[in-house]
Amino acid sequence: MADALTGIQSIRDLAIENKRLFIRVDFNVPMDGERVTDDTRIREALPTIKHAMERGAKVILASHLGRPKKGPDPKFSLVPAGAKLAELLGAEVHVPEDCVGDAAKKVVYDLREGQVCLLENLRFHPEEEKDDPAFAEQLKSLCDVYVDDAFGSVHRAHASVHALPKMMRERGCGFLLEKEIAALGNLVLKPDKPYVAVLGGAKVSDKIAVVEALLQQVDALIVGGAMANTFLAATGKDMKKSLVEADKLALARTIVENARDKGVALVLPVDAVVAKSIDAASGTTCSVDAIPDGEMMLDIGPKTVELFSKRFADAKSVFWNGPMGLFEKEPFSAGTFGVARALAASPAFTVVGGGDSAAAVHAAGEDVAKGMKHISTGGGASLELIEGKKLPGIEVLRSDPS
Ligand code: ADP
Ligand code: MG
Repeated sequence: MADALTGIQSIRDLAIENKRLFIRVDFNVPMDGERVTDDTRIREALPTIKHAMERGAKVILASHLGRPKKGPDPKFSLVPAGAKLAELLGAEVHVPEDCVGDAAKKVVYDLREGQVCLLENLRFHPEEEKDDPAFAEQLKSLCDVYVDDAFGSVHRAHASVHALPKMMRERGCGFLLEKEIAALGNLVLKPDKPYVAVLGGAKVSDKIAVVEALLQQVDALIVGGAMANTFLAATGKDMKKSLVEADKLALARTIVENARDKGVALVLPVDAVVAKSIDAASGTTCSVDAIPDGEMMLDIGPKTVELFSKRFADAKSVFWNGPMGLFEKEPFSAGTFGVARALAASPAFTVVGGGDSAAAVHAAGEDVAKGMKHISTGGGASLELIEGKKLPGIEVLRSDPS
């Protein structure tokens, strides 16, 4: 059976010694003025960068940062990210003032083996987001070998992840991207069964495509979070003041019917943590059949955590996206953290995708995060991959791109 990585070379297998190696990284880090407030993404790229340095490549890193509107804007400079990287590597990191042209060439051509530079924000050129071949050609003139390690960007056909690798004969993936494709791609291609999906988060409307795709693949679909409110309302529960997407009730009913037809167990919460507002200092637990007037469901209750956890116990694969409640607020975090702990303890192949979901797992504790088999670094990209979509930045890396 085909493997998710079929036709994609790993940086391990590419001849990078003495070569000018372009590595597309994801340094789209949160910033406060000129300070990087969370360097996780930079740290996560270190194994690939260090590997390249140790093998004597001349390393050219490139990334986007934020959404600069028109041209260069110091607010979106990668200089602080470069300084952070230099600190983490204990090595000098040159940052030319532009990612293409003479400034970039000068720095790149001066690189010696094992040295690193970080090109300035790719999005200072609007051509990046347009997948512009002429812009890609300018990037190509800087390098001999291309490696993509920016999973968060592979669902977009942008020049640095699509037009550029398309032009490069020597191309492949870094360690981070390799891990993402192996974990998520193989969950789509050949999941060990029973395969259970846990979905939550803010809205049904954000996740329709994922729900529909997963219904074709999973043995059980577990729904929590605000998303469950709409499903519970669709099955006749009075959700009182809870957030319910009225225009998605019919769709939720269709999904319930489709699940039944397919023999997929659709598991909904049986109890809730409710309060009068999202700012309440505490919540009370009740059955989903008895939500008091004027109150809203803000988390799943303990019986639901237990019910969901039973499903994980005999699962072989689990994909989780979307928190089970308003976990950012302590009184409504127990459901999400309880599910996280149960998943971490499960011997199943457990994969977490989604920005807030990944944050929730880390907030549950580092031992919980370590218990997961894979925590995806890409929000949109991980969901699109789970939907079974072919992502432009991944397909282009194959030796025989489709
Ligand atoms: P992800 O980023 O992992 O894909 P989403 O963005 O879909 O997840 O949803 C995350 C948000 O949903 C969180 O901020 C969480 O507080 C919110 N949320 C989940 N359940 C509820 C709920 N019952 N009521 C209000 N907000 C909720
Ligand atoms: Mg989110």
